[in-house]
Amino acid sequence: MRTRSCQMMRNGPYMTNMGRQGLKVHRGLVGAWGISATLLICLSRYLRAWMVAADNPWDGAMNGEDEYYSLVLNFKEAVFGVEKEIEIRRLEKCGTCDGSGAKPGTKSSRCNTCGGQGRVATQTRTPLGIFQQSMTCSSCNGTGETRTPCSTCSGDGRVRKTKRISLKVPAGVDSGSRLRVRNEGNSGKRGGSPGDLFVVLEVIPDPVLKREDTNILYSCKVSYIDAILGTTIKVPTVDGMVDLKIPSGTQPGSTLVMAKKGVPLLNKKNMRGDQFVRVQVEIPKKLSSDERKLIEELSELSKGKTAAGMR
Ligand SMILES: [Zn+2]
Ligand SMILES: [Zn+2]
Repeated sequence: MRTRSCQMMRNGPYMTNMGRQGLKVHRGLVGAWGISATLLICLSRYLRAWMVAADNPWDGAMNGEDEYYSLVLNFKEAVFGVEKEIEIRRLEKCGTCDGSGAKPGTKSSRCNTCGGQGRVATQTRTPLGIFQQSMTCSSCNGTGETRTPCSTCSGDGRVRKTKRISLKVPAGVDSGSRLRVRNEGNSGKRGGSPGDLFVVLEVIPDPVLKREDTNILYSCKVSYIDAILGTTIKVPTVDGMVDLKIPSGTQPGSTLVMAKKGVPLLNKKNMRGDQFVRVQVEIPKKLSSDERKLIEELSELSKGKTAAGMR
């Protein structure tokens, strides 16, 4: 036992010394090569970019752009969802040149600017030296060829066409919601993938039902008698007219909750918000003589009640 612990003691400081030495050497290297290391990283980045470009000459494929469409929905359509047929305008492959952009029957020739490479080298002067960078040739758009442009699409390879799309709008959308329809945007060029279609929604508000996210706000008026005695009234909701019980003693300005009469949650169809009904109590401005008599009686009664309460 003793021997082993002795060895450990001896090993300990020895290891530590080695560690310190190693650290010193490392620090020295960084000190001397600090700036050079930065230079090397920069150089290797440029080199890598250049080599990748050289190894994989670009085939000129370009992905299609996304297309936007604005769709107006009425209040109920937004609440419960709807299926709509929309007509969009987008760029599709040109039938005349089959998307090549070249006039049929003409021969393409090598691009003079890039020598058929599709890329041109540019030089950038920096404090660390001159760097070369490879960029897409602007004369041939990276195809390496020049050709007589197709007269139908003016060389783009695509033409604007109308397409009808049936669109499923989910329940619970609101103004500003965006629906993404994959691959229904503009066609790509020379084999590039198509863009997406974004349908931007605008919802026409309802004149009486105010929407606040998934809840509906509504104001009703009841007479002071109904507020005192309680009643049942008909209230418009997104589901149509629904009975609402006004409990006796309802206070002016109080809010009654109609649970789950609001807007379905987007992508959670069986969950819904609530409808909040604010009760306005109407006090008559004019009374008939009979009414006045009764109210006065009521007043006397209430005075008696108060006096009895105070005694
Ligand atoms: Zn070129
Ligand atoms: Zn064409």
